[in-house]
Amino acid sequence: MLIDYHLHTARCGHARGTMEEYVNAARAKGIVEIGFADHIPMYWLPEEERDPELAMTMNELPEYVNEVEDLRERFKDITIWLGIEADYIPGEEEKLKQILFNYPFDYVLGSVHYIDGWGFDNPSQVKKYSYMDIEKLYYKYFALLKQAARSKLFDIMAHPDLIKKFGYVPRQNINNLYRETSSVFKNAGVKVELNTSGLRAPVGEIYPHYLFVQECINQGIKFTLGSDAHSPEDVGKDLDKAVQLAAPELISSFYNR
Ligand SMILES: [Zn+2]
Ligand SMILES: [Zn+2]
Repeated sequence: MLIDYHLHTARCGHARGTMEEYVNAARAKGIVEIGFADHIPMYWLPEEERDPELAMTMNELPEYVNEVEDLRERFKDITIWLGIEADYIPGEEEKLKQILFNYPFDYVLGSVHYIDGWGFDNPSQVKKYSYMDIEKLYYKYFALLKQAARSKLFDIMAHPDLIKKFGYVPRQNINNLYRETSSVFKNAGVKVELNTSGLRAPVGEIYPHYLFVQECINQGIKFTLGSDAHSPEDVGKDLDKAVQLAAPELISSFYNR
């Protein structure tokens, strides 16, 4: 049974297609459950500094919620959840909590996309990797990810090794990082997303790495699936491969949470 809990919408400024096209793409592929989880407005920045090509505006947020609810009414042969992909920015937890409190989200994907203000998954900012100590960078990334899980703001940790996106991976074995992080995830009660967009990125592999998946399995953590589609064609993409990485019975649906 395939589910896709990570769909974007054109409101984020770097995705295309109507939300209805995403729904129809899922129906055509036999996906029984989907969840929209578009980028939350850049709440941690003053309004004039928010990039319209990275996330929707605060005014668009209620429209987004309404459109999901409207699609839910119109399409009864598929389950449509209202999710949101929320950036974790240390020190800004209260602002985020306030937004999440104001809307009836079914779940919140927790994402680390920034390290000290650097949007490390943004193709326009990739140069910075070439003069960084990659191992140190990974320690920093995983520290943020653990902090995010402990904040209790999130239900699911999205693409939990996104830092590998452009193929910069440490030479050293980082199994200790996977182990520590999965233990923090377990204690925080979060699920982990198996995100297939990594297959479409330079790194060419699913997030997270299979050794990280193994550590999560050892901890008894459940998984969700996400294509991270930014276009209707990518809805449901490669989810079968993600299921294989864990096991069908470890994939969690909100019907059996
Ligand atoms: Zn995006
Ligand atoms: Zn993301």
